Amino acid sequence: MSYNITLIPGDGIGPEVINAAKLVLENCGIGFNWDVVEAGENAIKKYGTPLPQNVIDSINKNKIALKGPVTTPIGTGFKSVNVTLRQIFDLYANVRPVKTFKGIPSRFEDVDLIIVRENSEDLYKGIEHMIGDDAAESIKIITRKASERIADFAFKLSVNEKRKKVTSVHKANIMKCTDGLFINCTRKIAQNYPEIEYEEMIVDAMSMKLVLSPEKYDVLVMPNLYGDILSDLAAGLVGGLGMVPGANIGLDAAIFEPVHGSAPDIAGKNKANPTAAILSAVMMLKYIGEFSAATKIENALRIVLENAKYRTFDLGGNTKTSEFAQAVVENMK
Ligand code: ATP
Ligand code: MG
Repeated sequence: MSYNITLIPGDGIGPEVINAAKLVLENCGIGFNWDVVEAGENAIKKYGTPLPQNVIDSINKNKIALKGPVTTPIGTGFKSVNVTLRQIFDLYANVRPVKTFKGIPSRFEDVDLIIVRENSEDLYKGIEHMIGDDAAESIKIITRKASERIADFAFKLSVNEKRKKVTSVHKANIMKCTDGLFINCTRKIAQNYPEIEYEEMIVDAMSMKLVLSPEKYDVLVMPNLYGDILSDLAAGLVGGLGMVPGANIGLDAAIFEPVHGSAPDIAGKNKANPTAAILSAVMMLKYIGEFSAATKIENALRIVLENAKYRTFDLGGNTKTSEFAQAVVENMK
């Protein structure tokens, strides 16, 4: 059995970290047929658009993509590739596991959170306008359908990942209608999962608690804007951008990508930390049900990260991206 996967190397350090993840995947005992397609700056040069139709067709066909960071140059008038992909494939759940690894410098030692962010509505609908010259209005949309489906997603994920607790993050004390509806939905879905503990937390208190005692939290589910802010906060708890993977998941398709950007300052130098990309590949394996291969990669990665010999420059070492990937492969044998 082999899987057809759309591979989007992306911009900047994208091709380097995605190649590293690809090498690791190709050595985990499963077969892949890669459909390599270009999005971002190279695509603009070649096709006149950052998101050519063949990328969309490929994801439509394969339903799964592994993607590097893609930039949408400012001032070109093109809409963000990431936002467009999210909309086309209705990738309603953004998932970010945030975890400390032994040996990696960070402020905490035992963080192991999964942030589940609703990815389709809230203030991100972009329904905004000026009222005269001196006032502006932005409309926050929260629907029962989107709230229930993200809640159900968070609980299902908790069951699959053997998690214990879901925390629903909100500001319903102030936004009684919108956030009130959101927590009513998460509360209702929680009843279908009696084995998972459920709690609610106001977003300001949540922010404080995450920086005081992140180890007390497990799976967090929240509307789009709070998710945007808290997921970056959480990445900061575990050693930064090179360490955090992400997934955008819909009913029909899923795109896996590191959360970092294209990092042009270090692009093309074989210096980038491929951990986030490799962990994104691990999320992809879990998504397609290849749990033992996922564990195999995770274990090898953990061994490499613990070994001070293999530190990329962002973690204070000078291991090359490709050497790091090779070390992970060696440890899978
Ligand atoms: P973009 O506009 O695509 O977001 P950016 O310059 O903001 O690009 P980011 O990837 O968001 O770059 O990261 C900011 C900085 O963090 C980078 O300039 C880089 O130095 C560092 N960084 C990000 N990802 C990595 C990585 N995987 N390995 C090492 N350093 C990284
Ligand atoms: Mg950036």
